[in-house]
Amino acid sequence: AAKKQGGNRFVVYDPNESNVSLERIEIEASLRKAIEDEVLDVFYQPKMNAASGKIIGAEALVRWNDVKLGFVSPAVFIPIAEDSGLIQPLFELVLRKAMIQMKEWNDVLVEKLTVSVNVSAVQFMEARNLVDCVKDKLSLTQFAPELLELEITESALLNNMSETIEALEEFNQLGISISIDDFGTGYSSLSYLQKLPIDTLKIDQSFIKSIDENGSISEIANGIINLARSLKLGIIAEGVEEEYQKEYLIRNGCHLMQGYLFSKPLEAKEFHKFIKDS
Ligand code: C2E
Ligand code: MG
Ligand code: MG
Ligand code: MG
Repeated sequence: AAKKQGGNRFVVYDPNESNVSLERIEIEASLRKAIEDEVLDVFYQPKMNAASGKIIGAEALVRWNDVKLGFVSPAVFIPIAEDSGLIQPLFELVLRKAMIQMKEWNDVLVEKLTVSVNVSAVQFMEARNLVDCVKDKLSLTQFAPELLELEITESALLNNMSETIEALEEFNQLGISISIDDFGTGYSSLSYLQKLPIDTLKIDQSFIKSIDENGSISEIANGIINLARSLKLGIIAEGVEEEYQKEYLIRNGCHLMQGYLFSKPLEAKEFHKFIKDS
């Protein structure tokens, strides 16, 4: 249970799970410090055009290796950041680091790479703040907005509808792309796909997993690919691990992919090596 403590600070309060709560409070305090000290890392996972074999960009993924807690998974600390008012400062740090880094790489590349940054649904509760922050970081880093993509989940579209639409329209006017992450796992109505300035559907990993070596049909993956095609949206698959999944996706009209088959998320130095070698 989360108990509101003024502002947008939440502290876990559950007398039956005091250990869990203590651990959570410790993670929250350490995370707050890590953000302040700017010691969170950004890893980069290549996004590939699998049909041509060329890299097109990278997804920025936050990494936290704490002196005391050790490596903490985003699956653990992102929900805590979302509940404790830390997700917006975390996003600001990741966005700034990712744009500075990608700009440095792009300065010497002929074919510029895009960078995708994850935005949590709760950040749309303060949509104005989110838009202002993105504008601010763009002008600070002088990063080309056409090369920036924001990955949002369908749940971002469930609350605060009019402010969310306004924010997406502003991003669109700035030239920023919007991708729907984990597509197919949300509960929202699909009508927003026609109304909102959305660029790309990112097929959730679970639907890629169901493509097996016997070439069995993933009805949902195919359905999403066809939906994207008829709505003239871009399509990318995530969690591609096997050659047969890649072949299947290419055969069915999805050329852009991300996954361990191509590369796991890499630290900046390794990613730089990846683009130099490819
Ligand atoms: P996501 O945005 O859907 O990112 C994809 C996740 O799948 C990443 O996990 C990535 O490392 C993992 N992945 C990539 N390829 C494969 C594959 O072939 N197989 C498998 N099994 N996994 C693969 P990661 O980095 O642990 O992040 C987990 C989630 O945490 C992300 O899911 C995203 O929702 C969240 N996250 C990560 N970084 C950030 C961030 O900076 N801000 C926010 N708001 N959320 C973040
Ligand atoms: Mg993502
Ligand atoms: Mg995803
Ligand atoms: Mg996910």
